[in-house]
Amino acid sequence: MCLFCKIIKKEIPSNIIHEDENYLAFHDINPKAPVHILAIPKVHVDSFNDLTPDMMAGMTTFIQEITQKTHIDKSGYRVITNIGENGGQEVGHLHFHVLGGAKLKWGHFSDADPKNLI
Ligand code: AMP
Repeated sequence: MCLFCKIIKKEIPSNIIHEDENYLAFHDINPKAPVHILAIPKVHVDSFNDLTPDMMAGMTTFIQEITQKTHIDKSGYRVITNIGENGGQEVGHLHFHVLGGAKLKWGHFSDADPKNLI
């Protein structure tokens, strides 16, 4: 069973901030911003590659609820999902990073040379 499935089953503790029947949100253990939450589906999905439009619709509402609950909806925030090796995905259970609470930099995207366009 994957790490985030264990968090869903409460076999591993997490700092949950929001939950419904289908989705779970908890604080990232290694935050990159004052607010850094992970939003995940409760059914195991490997990555965005396998996400259905229906699940994405539910996730959209769920993430909006998180941003309202943490009061970052008006000040702004960023939603990221890393996919696969080049995307930097470390945990193989689909998750959306919701980052906010400060003006976010863009620098961590500059490790690939933008001149090497595909
Ligand atoms: P990614 O690199 O997109 O796969 O992101 C995985 C994220 O999961 C990282 O930001 C980690 O800090 C976070 N993470 C790993 N283990 C835990 C955990 N037990 N509880 C909360 N967040 C975690």
